[in-house]
Amino acid sequence: MIHLSPVPAPVEAARVAALAAELDELENHESHDVQEILARATAAAEAADRSGDEVLGHRARLVQADMRRREGDLGSAARTFLATHRWAEQNDCRPLRARSHFHLALTYHYLGDHAASLEHALSAVELLDDDEPHGLRIIHLIRLANSLAEAGSTEAARDRYRQAERIAVGIGDLTRQLLVLNNLAYTEHEAGNVDIAWSAVERMRAVARAIGREFLIVERDTIANIQVSLGRYAEAEETLRDVYDSPPWFEAHDVAEASLTLAAAQRRLGALDRAQASLDHCRSLCDEHQLAGVRVRGLAEQAELYAAAGDHLAAFEEYKRFHAATEELRSTQLEARARSRQAMFETAEARRDAEHYREQARRDPLTGLYNRRFIDERLPQAMAEALAAGTPLTVALIDLDFFKRINDTLSHDVGDRVLVAVAVLLSARQDSLAPDGFAARMGGEEFLVVLPGVSAADAPERLETIRHDVASYRWAPTTGELPVTVSIGAVSVRAEGDQSQAALLAEADRRLYAAKDTGRNRVVARPVQP
Ligand code: GH3
Ligand code: MG
Ligand code: MG
Repeated sequence: MIHLSPVPAPVEAARVAALAAELDELENHESHDVQEILARATAAAEAADRSGDEVLGHRARLVQADMRRREGDLGSAARTFLATHRWAEQNDCRPLRARSHFHLALTYHYLGDHAASLEHALSAVELLDDDEPHGLRIIHLIRLANSLAEAGSTEAARDRYRQAERIAVGIGDLTRQLLVLNNLAYTEHEAGNVDIAWSAVERMRAVARAIGREFLIVERDTIANIQVSLGRYAEAEETLRDVYDSPPWFEAHDVAEASLTLAAAQRRLGALDRAQASLDHCRSLCDEHQLAGVRVRGLAEQAELYAAAGDHLAAFEEYKRFHAATEELRSTQLEARARSRQAMFETAEARRDAEHYREQARRDPLTGLYNRRFIDERLPQAMAEALAAGTPLTVALIDLDFFKRINDTLSHDVGDRVLVAVAVLLSARQDSLAPDGFAARMGGEEFLVVLPGVSAADAPERLETIRHDVASYRWAPTTGELPVTVSIGAVSVRAEGDQSQAALLAEADRRLYAAKDTGRNRVVARPVQP
């Protein structure tokens, strides 16, 4: 005998609680160290798998995928986001649905599909419950605001930034308030509202002073860009002064962007040597980290710089390089987008296929009714639901009378057509008697109808309508002289009963044979003498 020493329940519960807290933190992380977050998320995913907590496992994998996305692997990240989203929808898991919508909003943002991004961002906010961490709500609101702005709704975006800021202020989270303001400032600058952007910057300064921390590179880049737009070139240079000395774990992309902004400020200031140095720094980062987008804009800045120095030939050459690189970038971006879309499409496609085959496997090909496999899955469930709700449920076995005669006298083909016609009559009647029930083909010329809500007292009258439907159908065009009728044996589950599916069907079968024995074309819905 294998002896498994089980983990005591309180210890396991404490572990899961600690894991949930770790995930709250990872989802809300303020760290800019992608590798560190990735390592912690990977450890959390493994811990969740060991504890068997599927929701925590999915949350950890979302964080992992998000870090992979930051490293440039959008395609594989998108697959994880979609798979998690599907799981969350199937299991109606709201916390996970909110999170997967958020990541899909970000994914579509990178794919340039503003409409889809906005749709997911809206759901991400809507599905986030009140007891979720405030930091998460702020991040979701910022994403929604950014998506709204990208879709052209600046006013609606401002509303969401305000909401997010109010929450941050309410909980005294100045770091998150700064995050909101930075996004607001950037959005206003992009929308051409430089003055509103600048007032956001002034509030950013007040908040940063209150926290007592320096601005992050992304924040300084936002501020410097706005200063350049305002013609305050010297101030912009000052804002980005020691950007080269950023610690090594800072995202290279952010540093490269800032160096480029700095170069533009210095060029406009007439400090062409310093501008060239900043641009060289930007270029070396782009080469080292394959930052194609920033690199192309660096070429344009280089051309401006040559022109400013009066070297128009070099400027012209650089512009040509810029245009060639722009084209190349556009096509690689298009390719990358196509690959990500393909990955997402294939995932959705595979799901549709799987659902299609799953459904196929539960249908009878001749009549289109559900088959035995479906009955075995669904009937016990329907019985349990009726029992739990304290409502009745009637199950009827329906067998064609003298069906062999139709096959033998006419043809197997005619027999098939009769089966199809009976199936249509049964499912139409079942639907009107009990829409949440179902009709199925047991096999051969035997059918099953499940009627939730129909009690033993009501069963005879209801089933009589089924018998009558078949007997009174205009069969002559199909079977000529031969009548088509059915015998029905039915059982109703008592609210307090606890029969198995097998016992229920065996009882229905006994009653069906009683109907056959007593003359066919009739319903038996009461116990029979052995
Ligand atoms: P009873 O009133 O006692 O039920 O008599 P019956 O002739 O209906 O019953 P029996 O079990 O003797 O015959 C059933 C026949 O149904 C035999 C079989 O060939 C036929 N059958 C089973 N499946 C199909 C099918 O898919 N298509 C056709 N055409 N016939 C089928
Ligand atoms: Mg029969
Ligand atoms: Mg039969």
